[in-house]
Amino acid sequence: MSEAYTYACRSCEGMEDCPGEVTASSKDEVWKLMELHAVVAHGEDPSSWDSETRAYLGALITSK
Ligand SMILES: [Zn+2]
Repeated sequence: MSEAYTYACRSCEGMEDCPGEVTASSKDEVWKLMELHAVVAHGEDPSSWDSETRAYLGALITSK
């Protein structure tokens, strides 16, 4: 079975109502999809995420 990494936006504090969820076979791809989701769904600018924010978000990525 191949690996799968998932980020569910609702697991992020303050995003409990967001149904957005991304899954990919690598963490790198999940990050790209997370950033795209943040831009499209939340109007955020991922380039403004500091290392603390990235560490927080990264800890929310689950694997199976
Ligand atoms: Zn979201």
